[in-house]
Amino acid sequence: MGKTIYDPVSVLPSVGHKRQEALNQLGIFTILDLLSHFPFRYEDIKEKNLLEIEDQEKVTLKGNVVSEAVISRFGPKKNRLSFRLVVDHAVIAITFFNQSYLKSKIIAGEELAVFGKWDAKRKSLTGIKLLGTSSSDQTNSFESIYKANKSIKQKTIFDLVKKAYPEYYKLIPENVPSDLKKKYRLVSHSEAVYGMHFPTSQEQSKQARREIVFEEFFLYQLKLQSLRKKQKAAGYGLQIKYDVKELRRFISSLPFELTTAQKRVVNEICTDLKEPMHMHRLLQGDVGSGKTIVAAIALFAASNANVQSALMVPTEILAEQHMESLSELFNPLDVRMALLTGSTKTKERKVILEELANGLLDVVIGTHALIQKDVYFSQLGLVITDEQHRFGVNQRKILRDKGKEPDVLFMTATPIPRTLAITTYGEMDVSIIDELPAGRIPIETTWTRPKNFELTLEFIERQLKVGSQAYVICPLIEESESLDVKNATDIYEKLSAYYASRYNVGLLHGKMKPTEKEQIMHQFKENKLDILVSTTVIEVGVNVPNATTMVIYDADRFGLSQLHQLRGRVGRGHKESYCILVANPKSETGIERMKIMTETVDGFVLSEKDLELRGAGDLFGSKQSGLPDFKVGDIIGDFGALEAARQEATELINDPDFMLNEKYFQLRQLLDMEKSSEQHFN
Ligand code: ADP
Ligand code: MG
Repeated sequence: MGKTIYDPVSVLPSVGHKRQEALNQLGIFTILDLLSHFPFRYEDIKEKNLLEIEDQEKVTLKGNVVSEAVISRFGPKKNRLSFRLVVDHAVIAITFFNQSYLKSKIIAGEELAVFGKWDAKRKSLTGIKLLGTSSSDQTNSFESIYKANKSIKQKTIFDLVKKAYPEYYKLIPENVPSDLKKKYRLVSHSEAVYGMHFPTSQEQSKQARREIVFEEFFLYQLKLQSLRKKQKAAGYGLQIKYDVKELRRFISSLPFELTTAQKRVVNEICTDLKEPMHMHRLLQGDVGSGKTIVAAIALFAASNANVQSALMVPTEILAEQHMESLSELFNPLDVRMALLTGSTKTKERKVILEELANGLLDVVIGTHALIQKDVYFSQLGLVITDEQHRFGVNQRKILRDKGKEPDVLFMTATPIPRTLAITTYGEMDVSIIDELPAGRIPIETTWTRPKNFELTLEFIERQLKVGSQAYVICPLIEESESLDVKNATDIYEKLSAYYASRYNVGLLHGKMKPTEKEQIMHQFKENKLDILVSTTVIEVGVNVPNATTMVIYDADRFGLSQLHQLRGRVGRGHKESYCILVANPKSETGIERMKIMTETVDGFVLSEKDLELRGAGDLFGSKQSGLPDFKVGDIIGDFGALEAARQEATELINDPDFMLNEKYFQLRQLLDMEKSSEQHFN
């Protein structure tokens, strides 16, 4: 049999069992994997004048060899190879450690270039790489640096790539259709692979990367879209046949009229529920836009159709709050629901699990407790995750797998810039609530310095006087001098002393027992506490419309998205609300953040700014976000390419020619062959 690009790396003569294993650990199984294992950075190895070189700098020196190479050994398995090179009339001592095999290449009288680390005092160079003579083989001006591990050195990887490329480059598949290659002026894939490993100029490296990134995005988008198309076409998934009249009656029984945006997303979701197609939808809406009620309507529809549903949230506080507000809506109706969290009593839990398994319960609301092994449903048809960005990919998948292809709705306020969401969640349908309920007065945000402590307390008091409540947020609970962070307990005590018998202050933090937390939250909701001093445990989802003031200490320690989430705890009713940021920012970004917060309350604008200030990794907490991990492409830096790839992929997948034309055979095969891209999501 002839060789193929999918041959295992062990076909290379220098790859034995051990090396193969080391490569496998890096995710390298086939020759194609090896050739696609690109350097993650390059050392620019320009030649430099001796006088310009700084101590310990990495440079390339070129000169004439004026001595034989001498090998000396020290210790077992250690050796040193030394020789002298005349560069610009100066004699430079060159030393390579443990590379005695280079000896034969060092010939007195010949010209040679060496890349290494400069020692200014000794006028010597510790060799990293021998570049050979100017006329000979490898004289890259960039050193490729690879991701390696304990069992394999990055130099070994480079050598393997160097060996494999000439033998296999003709077999490297071209996946991007040729018309697109032309349209975007992309080099061939095999040329790009070469340019990634062995660039000799910035330009070559740039062109190589462009092609690699485009292909990566294009294939990814194509997979998403074909998967989506298959799902839609297959028509599997449950039909949730609710009674439209009863759903309408339920909606009109709500204490308020839905906003236009809410009506639109309800329609989108309910249409999905009714269809045999399996729903896979992201519901995005800024904090306070009213996502809970949309979820409630979907849950009602499911229960009306006798299908079970689950609502998963990241914190117990939030689970309890949802339970409470949904009970109010559902109680007069025939919806049976239960709350399942980590602090549900064993006895009660047992009953809930039984009722879930034999179908006595319609709706279960809970935390991670919902995804325990022993939780079974009789017919789980709808899964909703609130604050979905707080869950790992696996957690969401486990819950989904408890049903048979249930409809899935993810809700999030994480302001991912709209365009980015649509592009990266390309296989999901996206519903957006882009409107706040009527009568909301924009939250007034101010930034003040910690020295104005008294003034801040006086301000809070004016709000309390008219019957409103306030939150005071501190970043951490334990005293940590190094971080100079306010201690929540400390603030709690100061506030208690200040307001003394006039107002009640409560304290909430992550180290408290769940029952204690619940109790405090309850008291705050019932307006028995006027002020709640809390750590960020309060951040997601909490809804107490009578609270109108939010004070955030050390506000510069938070990212914009988190500040926005925190601020979103107020401004939920009809009263004028305030957010006071207390901070002494030391960095430029800190100051910038405070300013932006006082200028806008639009979550999408903030998300874009956050992105600018922090970069994608930080914003999404990368792995947690459910966003895909690309090898070379960067969803922020290469956004233009991502968007272009998405458009082209969409066009191609919907082109009837795609399923018929021979020229797409290889691509079609690739899409069927590969595992579904669902591993990135769900
Ligand atoms: P979020 O989208 O942040 O989860 P919530 O669902 O908690 O927001 O809703 C915020 C507040 O707005 C709640 O008090 C809720 O009852 C109220 N609300 C939701 N929809 C409307 C509406 N259409 N009209 C008036 N108030 C609404
Ligand atoms: Mg919410």
